[in-house]
Amino acid sequence: MVQGIANWNTEETEEWLQQYVDDWVAFYRKHTNDGEVASYIPELQKANPDALGIVIKGNNGITIRSGDTEDPFTLQSISKAITFAVACMERGVSYMLQQVDVEPTGEAFNSIMHLEMKQVKKPLNPFNNAGAITVTSALPGDTSDDKLEPVLKLLEDMLGNRPELNADVFKSERDSSTRNRAIGYYLLEVGFLESDLDITLETYFKQCSIDVTIDDLARIGMILANDGMDPKNGEEIIPRQIARITKVLMLTCGMYDASGKFATYVGIPAKSGVSGGILAAVPPRVRDESMPFTDGCGIGVYGPALGEEGNSVAGIRLLRHIATQWDLSIF
Ligand code: GLN
Repeated sequence: MVQGIANWNTEETEEWLQQYVDDWVAFYRKHTNDGEVASYIPELQKANPDALGIVIKGNNGITIRSGDTEDPFTLQSISKAITFAVACMERGVSYMLQQVDVEPTGEAFNSIMHLEMKQVKKPLNPFNNAGAITVTSALPGDTSDDKLEPVLKLLEDMLGNRPELNADVFKSERDSSTRNRAIGYYLLEVGFLESDLDITLETYFKQCSIDVTIDDLARIGMILANDGMDPKNGEEIIPRQIARITKVLMLTCGMYDASGKFATYVGIPAKSGVSGGILAAVPPRVRDESMPFTDGCGIGVYGPALGEEGNSVAGIRLLRHIATQWDLSIF
């Protein structure tokens, strides 16, 4: 347990925290053996199954980077948090909450069953595929590039540079998309889509194929942790209410059908993707001063070996360990 530090902003403490995280990453790297890289999108199978990395960016200026921090990967379902925020910014929160509910499904991210079985009036939340495709259909614009523009713009505002699309992952996802097409046709049939189905799906595949690094995720997490404000200059990038709802949904629905367990054992709003990335936002907390990052931080994790629910196996265990050691839970 890290204890007895009065001032966390010194180089010495930074080095000390770095050593802890390096040890934990080395330990949890072995846990990548308990998972498998996603194969249903063939291009994702090229990822290194042993990779594990983490970046923690604190509001106090401390950054800890450990493990495989340089590997780029695609956003996949992490994009659902971004497009939901963008759709709320473009169309208004109350409008978007009429299009999509805010209830966890307890089912796999690509489940179609609940839509018909429960005769839902709208998709249950924006973070499963049905809800995310519905949200994407509400983005303004007549082409997939038009629809994607405000998504790339928000990412650029947060990251300081415009992220690129990974054309190979996009093609691979588009060419292996029978499941998402089935979901799309169902949504079309029940009248949930606002745009042409093909354009909506093309946009959805593109948003999932945006390349990022865990430095990027940590930065986005830090902005969300700060209720949408850039801690560097105090600028509001995402309106507070939208950042708040996005974090609530990350906590209740962000880790697919493992969201309840993640909230219980880790207790941090987070969103995962099948490429192995996890975006986490740790808001400022009232805690014992001997804990680091009490004024909040953003965390990016990458570990493409996935567990049953489609989350990074080693990534979740590493986050759980750090959250326990440093008391990061929001509760
Ligand atoms: N692009 C993936 C899909 O639609 C995203 C899913 C995920 O990351 N869980 O299947």
